[in-house]
Amino acid sequence: MLKLFGKAISVEGIQAHRMQVSLTTQSNLPVPLRQGKAYLVKDGTIPPGFDHYIVFETRLKDLPEGAACTVLDAEFLYLDDQDVISLGQDGHVRSLFRANSPHNSILLTEQCNNYCLMCSQPPKRVDDHWLLNEAMETIRRIPRETESLGITGGEPTLFGDNFIALLRHIKNWLPRISLHVLSNGRRFADAEFAEKYASVQHPDLMVGIPVYSADPARHDYVVQAHGAFDETIRGILNLKRLGQKVEIRVVLHKQTVSALPELAEFIARNLLFVDHVALMGLEMTGFTRANLDALWIDPAEYRQELSRSVRILRAYGLKTSVYNHPLCLVNRDVEPNYVKSISDWKNEFAQECAPCTRKSECGGFFSSGIQHGYSQSISPFQ
Ligand code: SF4
Repeated sequence: MLKLFGKAISVEGIQAHRMQVSLTTQSNLPVPLRQGKAYLVKDGTIPPGFDHYIVFETRLKDLPEGAACTVLDAEFLYLDDQDVISLGQDGHVRSLFRANSPHNSILLTEQCNNYCLMCSQPPKRVDDHWLLNEAMETIRRIPRETESLGITGGEPTLFGDNFIALLRHIKNWLPRISLHVLSNGRRFADAEFAEKYASVQHPDLMVGIPVYSADPARHDYVVQAHGAFDETIRGILNLKRLGQKVEIRVVLHKQTVSALPELAEFIARNLLFVDHVALMGLEMTGFTRANLDALWIDPAEYRQELSRSVRILRAYGLKTSVYNHPLCLVNRDVEPNYVKSISDWKNEFAQECAPCTRKSECGGFFSSGIQHGYSQSISPFQ
């Protein structure tokens, strides 16, 4: 698992409480372009003239005299050219964007109006507008040729018009990017807000919205918010009326798997016009660890429900993907819809996987799953 945030060994010359820098390894960068960039010291001679230097301990002695610098430990060695990081005066370091990764997401807020049993980013009641401002700046630093980006929370739409402004900002700076927003969808029940969202006219924007059950009471229980199902479904209907791309996301756990085929029927009969359905394995992080007894079920135990549900969705012509599952724990008939999906920075394999002949096709496990228990039914392909 990659360490995306942590503490620097030391920092020198950071003037603001917190600042963002784009990293470069290009030692011959023209001098005017060196401003606002941090030189990432790897091999070779170290050029002068950069605002800041990111250095690992072994090269500290080679820095230009008096250079502003941040000294990192080896866990940050994965950092590379065109990455964007945040540096704090107190030594806090956060990786905000990795140019070589297809799994970049910007955390827009930790506030949420749902309180899901399995939330991986437990909500906080704090004013975190600084995250929105940080996102605005990160967008300006991301390479123009970047192909995809996610926006997550919390619930990004709680920022209202400022969220819409961020989407416009992304469209202006990164007009070719494929953008995916995670939202509980409730805010889109407000037709006026849905219209503002549609008015951005982003050419490649999809919103992923969770629906956990065809039974409103069950959905509301999973998200711990009375009336959420009704708002979410109205939100989806508004978005599709306005021609927006919508993905339905279902996290699979003890509270959702037994009635999964019924949910598949519900989606197929009532929401046939959505663009994608994602059936997703459970990540053992955040609230999931606190609610493990209520949530954890070995994927081997719901193979049949998963197969049935995929068959229903396929039969209605719905584009369907199965994410975040070990390949040996799904039935073979699910394979056409199986996607290796766990983000690279939190993806691991179990020791038992070593001899498996299909490891390269398998999505493996969340690192948190490896640490906190995983299926006893793993069976390496021979
Ligand atoms: S045994 Fe093979 S298929 Fe199963 S989880 Fe490990 S790598 Fe994936």
